[in-house]
Amino acid sequence: MNIPLPRNQKQTTDISPLQALDNITVIPQWHEADKKGFKKHEKGTTTILFGGLSNMHDQLMEAAIKSLGYKARALTCPDKEALQTGKEFGNRGQCNPTYFTVGNLVKHLIYLRDEKNLNTQDIIDNYVFVTASGCGPCRFGMYNTEYRKALRDAGFENFRTLTFEQDSPDNNTADDDCLELNLKFYLRIIRVVILADVVNLMGYRIRPYEVNPGDTDSAMDECRIVLQDTISKKKNLRKALKKCKALFDAVEIDKLQVKAKVSIIGEFWAMTTEGDGNYKLQRFLESEGAECDIQPITNWILYMIWLAEFDSRKATQLEKDTLNQTGNSAGNQTFLRFLLKMGDLFMKKTFYRYAKHIGLDHYKLSDMNQIASLASKHYYNELTGGEGHMEVGKLIYNFSAKKSHLVISVKPFGCMPSSGVSDGVQSLVTKQYPGINFLPIETSGDGAVNVYSRIQMALFKARQLAQKEYEQALGDRKINLEELKSRISNDKKVRIATTYAPHTVAGSMANIIYQQPTI
Ligand code: SF4
Repeated sequence: MNIPLPRNQKQTTDISPLQALDNITVIPQWHEADKKGFKKHEKGTTTILFGGLSNMHDQLMEAAIKSLGYKARALTCPDKEALQTGKEFGNRGQCNPTYFTVGNLVKHLIYLRDEKNLNTQDIIDNYVFVTASGCGPCRFGMYNTEYRKALRDAGFENFRTLTFEQDSPDNNTADDDCLELNLKFYLRIIRVVILADVVNLMGYRIRPYEVNPGDTDSAMDECRIVLQDTISKKKNLRKALKKCKALFDAVEIDKLQVKAKVSIIGEFWAMTTEGDGNYKLQRFLESEGAECDIQPITNWILYMIWLAEFDSRKATQLEKDTLNQTGNSAGNQTFLRFLLKMGDLFMKKTFYRYAKHIGLDHYKLSDMNQIASLASKHYYNELTGGEGHMEVGKLIYNFSAKKSHLVISVKPFGCMPSSGVSDGVQSLVTKQYPGINFLPIETSGDGAVNVYSRIQMALFKARQLAQKEYEQALGDRKINLEELKSRISNDKKVRIATTYAPHTVAGSMANIIYQQPTI
């Protein structure tokens, strides 16, 4: 049998198939790079569009990019109209975040053209979209190509879409490149991501216990304004976070409520967005009387660092095994791992510093080694794409460490790693840990009623678990509700919104009880 060879190779009979493979000219990977790029002289006239994280992240990111001298605009949270637009102009068979985020950009450009009466060519010349990208292995590696395809079909051919990655083949990098993706840029963006994380975490802690609906959201809005002003004018961040703490402290709360705590895990975008992309899951849970335990984006960055370190160790091992045979070096892995360690330390130090200033006490970031180790019995740590092993590891951790009464794993319709792999593994995990209250939900943009009713059923069990835990706590501390009420009414500190009892069990009220001395 003849092995088909590439077009530039002649079929010969006097060499073996392996020799033929050796002779193949390596053809570089094809990338659809942006042809025009974003040049320095366009800085004053071109607006950078971006978006796709939580509202707080997007708004603070806008201030950070502006503070670097760019014109910037965060897109609004993707909604159902964005999904429809994405489906209209995108390829078939994409996962949901692709449709939502691609559609959101196209929707905004159509708005500029049809509602703001901007000329199509002016939009192409004066706007550029910047997004994160990756090399897969899931569809994340194809996002930028999807953006370009949809933009072309929607009438915005040659609209520029660039990525935040330095040296990305998607960017047409040149000396006069306007987007300076240097350390200063990344540090500013990362700090803003951490800032938005701590503000969001604080909001999700307080909102379920507010006495006057809307007070926490107002405090968050005011915090956002304070932080945007601080970032833009490069003012003192510590002072700004203290101001935010005062704003949160002013929210009147009633902590004596037994609430089910719900951890939201799943695919990165589906669990981070706060709109139609996950049926406004966080707000729905709160309206049903639950307290949400969300995943900060800091955890995702820590996972990325962990993954690079894991790969680096594998490369070192591989190098030891093959160096003598091939003479190829895997590079200076020790130095790389030192840099990764520094990155990890920087992330954690910055997070805990901001958390301290804003009053986010007793919050612990995920321990990536622990998550990897817990998951490894069921999910290879080598498998990447989406959240990798993290969904499995987080579910086991949440259950074992009594972090929540219910774990909801939210994943977009059509997601390969999350629906196709993690959920299959989770059915085995829930069998091995029979007490787990776990609910996987798939978001398709429609069918919200079905999803809500499944959540309500899982919440029923979660409430029972929370109630049982609360009664157990009263019994352990040998106090009754009346006694607890009287103690708390005499304890000014506990009544402050930002005060949070350290973790003993999942429920916040049970944790307050465990802080009480036994009579
Ligand atoms: S993790 Fe899933 S939803 Fe996210 S980009 Fe990859 S395939 Fe799409």
